[in-house]
Amino acid sequence: MSALDQIASLLGSENILASDTDMQPYLIDWRTVYQGKAQAVITPRSTEQVSQLLSWANAHDQVIVPQGGNTGLVGGGIPDKSGASLLLSLRKMNQIRGLSVENRSMVAEAGCVLEDLQKAAEAADLYFPLNLAARGSCSIGGNLSTNAGGLNVLRYGNARDLCLGLEVVLANGQVMNLLSALRKDNTGYDLKNLFIGAEGTLGVITAASLKLFSLPKARATALAGVRSVADGVALLSRLQAKSGDQVEAFEILPAVLLDAVLEHFPQTQKPLAEAHPFILLMEIASSDPALGEAEADGATPMNRLMEAFLAEAFEDGLITDATLAANETQRQKLWDIREVAPDISNKVQNPVNSDISVRVADLDAFYQDASQRVRAICETTRICGFGHMGDGNLHFNLYEKPGGDPAWEQKRPALVEAVYESLAKFNGSISAEHGIGVSKAARLAATKDPVALHLMQQIKQLLDPKNLLNPGKILK
Ligand SMILES: Cc1cc2nc3c(=O)[nH]c(=O)nc-3n(C[C@H](O)[C@H](O)[C@H](O)COP(=O)(O)OP(=O)(O)OC[C@H]3O[C@@H](n4cnc5c(N)ncnc54)[C@H](O)[C@@H]3O)c2cc1C
Repeated sequence: MSALDQIASLLGSENILASDTDMQPYLIDWRTVYQGKAQAVITPRSTEQVSQLLSWANAHDQVIVPQGGNTGLVGGGIPDKSGASLLLSLRKMNQIRGLSVENRSMVAEAGCVLEDLQKAAEAADLYFPLNLAARGSCSIGGNLSTNAGGLNVLRYGNARDLCLGLEVVLANGQVMNLLSALRKDNTGYDLKNLFIGAEGTLGVITAASLKLFSLPKARATALAGVRSVADGVALLSRLQAKSGDQVEAFEILPAVLLDAVLEHFPQTQKPLAEAHPFILLMEIASSDPALGEAEADGATPMNRLMEAFLAEAFEDGLITDATLAANETQRQKLWDIREVAPDISNKVQNPVNSDISVRVADLDAFYQDASQRVRAICETTRICGFGHMGDGNLHFNLYEKPGGDPAWEQKRPALVEAVYESLAKFNGSISAEHGIGVSKAARLAATKDPVALHLMQQIKQLLDPKNLLNPGKILK
């Protein structure tokens, strides 16, 4: 019997895709940078079927590449070009197993789409705060496997911080059940955290217990122009204090990126009359409905708080202009600008993309230092450092406009190194939230503390001694 026939006898042929057309969407990444091949895409429906598949793979030395929504940006969910791998898609495992209002938690299967979980929480008047622009496609299994960050880390933490427990199928097919939704559990090593951020190299996450919070009932969202990153950092600290740590999002975009967004996405609108070196998108939120109730003049107490903050910051010269969303439609318009920004990388020729973090206090110095290094190599490069400023996380991306420096291609490697040299100076991270995948495996090997790297290799060897789970990802 062929390998696929054996798997069909275990899982059913309806859970196997083997034609090129059927497999195509699973074998290329969102940025169309990584393209791989596979024998087949296997789509199990249950933890038991994942266990059967991994047990079979272990017995037959079969490489498995797990995949969720395939929105990852580092090539982690794409198999290599050999065509020997089996791609394990968790998409059919999309059931919410339970939601407890009292415990403020829910148990969801790995293939649940993030947006569906947000909606399920909302239906119970609760909030699942993990939020990223890929929310309509990415899966909770992928979010946990990449320890996704996103827009609300400032207040609620990364995916890791939102996870109470996991169910994981190990490389040998054993199912490890750590799903209990306990808030406190000090029974030895915290094994679940090994699998969070492991990008499918240590086991396959099949379900997770997730923390839920009070649903925000009042929000204020503002967009402000600022002269420098330093002014943005000062504003963040002020807004945290003024709002009683209710800042949910604090994002930055430089003028050059705003221009690109407005040019490439006709649905977006110029938010401020004049151009400013940077714009900030800020949001505060509270679960107290009274703060969201409009008063006689139509303004809510939450908006008044933001208004007062902006007025004071303007007086102190920290912001140069601002707009405050008066309703949900206006709020969405402001968020549209930020949410399409990552897509600019797909619109320009061969950009340099990065996902770095430094201490919030070092953001301005890093931005200036990295920009200087980049300009010294290519004066005309468009420097588009944008993103989750509140977490010290920037996508410090570089583009060259059509007809710009003809030697851009040759200069590209030096530009990449310039960004990472600056990052090293500030002791930053080469991957703040997207993970390592294949794109940063070599850089991780070159930069990670050697003792930590060796320990990571030993853990991989212990949990996946045959190197069958997502080989070549994270560890080279
Ligand atoms: C427009 C856009 C915006 C984005 N914004 C953000 C952002 O703000 N913050 C952020 O952190 N990321 C962001 N991302 C990146 C991406 O959405 C996240 O990395 C997301 O968590 C990936 O989820 P996924 O289900 O698509 O995973 P996939 O891409 O399918 O897989 C990602 C990795 O996890 C592994 N994996 C997937 N599921 C499992 C499982 N069940 N068990 C074990 N391993 C598994 C894969 O092998 C792979 O290594 C963005 C992406 C896009 C396209």
